[in-house]
Amino acid sequence: MSSHVVAPARIDSTTTVPALEVKGLVKDFHSGGLFSRASVRALGGVDLAIRKGEIVALVGESGSGKSTLARCVARLEKPTSGRILLNGTDVLKRDRFQASREYRSQLQMVFQDPFGSLNPVHRIEHFLTRSLTLHGKAGNPAQLCSRLDGLMTTVGLTPDMLNSYPHELSGGQRQRVAIARALAVEPEVILADEPTSMLDVSVRIGILNLMRQLRDQQGISMLYITHDLASARYLADRIAVMFAGELVEEGESLDLLANPAHPYTRLLVSAVPDPARTGSYDPHERAALRTAVMESASCAFDGDPEQQCSATEPVRHRVGEPANQHWVRCHLYRPPAAAASHALSAEPLEPKLQIATEEPSTAESRTEKQAST
Ligand code: ADP
Ligand code: MG
Repeated sequence: MSSHVVAPARIDSTTTVPALEVKGLVKDFHSGGLFSRASVRALGGVDLAIRKGEIVALVGESGSGKSTLARCVARLEKPTSGRILLNGTDVLKRDRFQASREYRSQLQMVFQDPFGSLNPVHRIEHFLTRSLTLHGKAGNPAQLCSRLDGLMTTVGLTPDMLNSYPHELSGGQRQRVAIARALAVEPEVILADEPTSMLDVSVRIGILNLMRQLRDQQGISMLYITHDLASARYLADRIAVMFAGELVEEGESLDLLANPAHPYTRLLVSAVPDPARTGSYDPHERAALRTAVMESASCAFDGDPEQQCSATEPVRHRVGEPANQHWVRCHLYRPPAAAASHALSAEPLEPKLQIATEEPSTAESRTEKQAST
C-alpha cells in the first residue's frame, strides 16, 4: 500500500457548498436505568465538511464515536443538537417522512458486516430490485433487467450472480452487493462504516479500489470510516481524526500522516507498520499509552491540569502549508521553531469552509505537489 501514488481527485472546487456538512453535532446516549438521568456524550460538537467528489476518512480507535457520527448523519440516530447539511440544506428541519425518502436517495450507508445487512432468504436480485423500486428507478421490466446487470457489472460482479443467495458469495462479493444496493438509488454521498474490516486482507484492496472508482467515475462523495490508517492513506483525500467524540486533527491525507501534530494521531500512526520509519518504536510504551487513552474520559496526554481540555477547549492551530488544510486542536501543540514566522500561530482558524474557499483544493495542491517533485 505504501507504494501507492495518489491519483488526482475529481473534487469539485467550483462550488463552495459542500456535499455534506455537519456543524456542532452533539450526541448524548442515555445510560443507567430507566429512571436514571445519566448520559454518555458520544459526540462532543463535531464540525466536518466533505466536498463534492471528495473522500474523507474518519479515523480513530474503537469507541471514539465514528459510527455514532455516521448513524446520526444517516438519520439512524437523532442527534442531541447540531446541524446536518446536504448540499447546503438543513436536513433535520425537514418533514420526517418526505425527508427520509428523499434523503435516502441522496445519501446511502454501507455497513461493516455485509452478511448481516443482506437477509439470507433472498436472492441478490431481490435486494437490488427492491432498492431500485423503492426509489422509483426500476423502470419497465426490460429497463429493470438492464439496470440490474449494469449495477452488478459496476461493482465487479457478473450478472448471473443475481440468482445467488448471500451465503453462496464470499465476504468481498457480499460487500460488493451491499455497495451495488447503495448505488441503485444513485446517491451523491456514501457513508462507509468500516466496509473492509470484516473481510480478508486479500479482498480489502479490491473494495477500496471499487470505492475510488465510484468517486472518480460518478463523482460520489464519501465518508470512509476506519481504524486502519494505511487504508485511509490509500483511499482518502483528507483524514479527520476522532478522539473521544471530538475531531482533534484534520488534513490532507499524506501531509497529516507525514506530520501528525496531535499526540493521539501520533499514537495511531505509530501502529501502522512502516519499514521506512526511523526512530524508536516501543510496543510496550504504545500499549500503555493506548490503555491510558481508552480509560480516559478526556485527553490522557496532558499532564498539566491548567492545560486540560476539560478546563479550556483548545483552539485550532494551522499546521504547515495552508494548502494542506491541516489543523490540530491541542493545548500541547507548538509550531516548529523553524517555522515560527510562518502562519503557524495560535490564532483560532476560521471554519473549515472558509479555508476551502480561500485555498486551492486538495486536488490542486496534489497536482502542484506532483508537479514539483
Ligand atoms: P466507534 O464507531 O468509533 O467504535 P461508537 O460510535 O460505536 O464508536 O461509540 C462511541 C461511544 O458511544 C461509545 O462509548 C459507545 O459505548 C457509545 N454508544 C454508541 N452507541 C450507543 C448506544 N446505542 N447506547 C449507548 N451508548 C452508545
Ligand atoms: Mg464503529
